[in-house]
Amino acid sequence: MTSAVEAYIDLTALQHNLQRVRQAAHDTKIMAVIKANGYGHGMTQMARALADVEAFAVARLHEALELRQAGVKNIIAVLEGFQTADELERFARHELQPVIHQRTQIELLQQTRLSKPLQVWLKIDSGMHRMGVAPAIAKDCWQQLAALESVATVRLMTHLASADDRSSAQTEQQLATFRQAVAGIEAETSIANSAAVLGWTQAHGDWVRPGIMLYGVSPFCNGTAADNDLQPVMSLESRLIAINHFKQGDAIGYGASWVCPEAMPVGVVACGYGDGYPRHAVPGTPVLLKDGYAPLVARVSMDTVCVDLRRQPKAKIGDPVVLWGRGLPVEEVAAAATTIPYELLCAVSRRVNFHYQA
Ligand SMILES: *Cc1c(COP(=O)(O)O)cnc(C)c1O
Repeated sequence: MTSAVEAYIDLTALQHNLQRVRQAAHDTKIMAVIKANGYGHGMTQMARALADVEAFAVARLHEALELRQAGVKNIIAVLEGFQTADELERFARHELQPVIHQRTQIELLQQTRLSKPLQVWLKIDSGMHRMGVAPAIAKDCWQQLAALESVATVRLMTHLASADDRSSAQTEQQLATFRQAVAGIEAETSIANSAAVLGWTQAHGDWVRPGIMLYGVSPFCNGTAADNDLQPVMSLESRLIAINHFKQGDAIGYGASWVCPEAMPVGVVACGYGDGYPRHAVPGTPVLLKDGYAPLVARVSMDTVCVDLRRQPKAKIGDPVVLWGRGLPVEEVAAAATTIPYELLCAVSRRVNFHYQA
């Protein structure tokens, strides 16, 4: 028995989820999104396990360099592109593909001589209004890029704001805006995140960019992984390290914010926000013990959470506990903490021990 928090990473589930991408988007190339440490699962481990895909996407240059250093040979797209001439040269040297989303980046490319020509992505803002060039100047930007000696290939990209909501009209609007902006340009396209891979076939384009679904989480604003035939990859687990018996009126934890409604046993689980468990999880958030669920009580601490053991009379010190994963969907825990599964997965901290299981 160890006294650390463990993250079990199920690589068989990861392969299953990759199959789901292939099945849903069978005629497209796959750019697997492994930014933010592979959504908390370990970036290089995810890259090795997903080595069959055509490309990876990360957000920042240093993530891409880390992958190259680890020997990853796949195409790597960097979603935020470059900011300086020095960064630009590193894209060329390591054969990385920048996403170009601002005119200033095109100007920098025009002013810089590169050791090797780059393959680039031009990102068009079709309505998310975060990153991308305006549709009205898309063709002009494309022509400027295509004319450069330092640019070998230009591909087109856009990102959907509301694909997670199948009833939203925004996705169709964005698709129409994108189609109009790139009409007449001969280039490959990439539009679909996970939600669009599963929910919007008309948005598949030439390259799909799944992230969250690879990790076995529903990409939709409601519904679970199982609803979409996805298998959770991460299981965050720990142990019960104390059981205490309190009387009615005793207050538990910081701020004495939770008060025992009657005499009752309270368990202490070794996992807190210092491990990545959300501090905003409310009392009642489910925690899975050996024989069933126990609701969280009191405030989440850095190293521990407390659970109500009234319905778990057989619980004993040392029992395994699942915070999310096997038997307890991360979607449920995220909802109880008024956040999304993405945030919980990304936040799993360095203190946690990772185990990769084939
Ligand atoms: C993160 C990201 C993705 C992946 O989104 P998921 O919802 O995790 O599938 C795709 N494209 C871009 C531009 C992203 O930033």
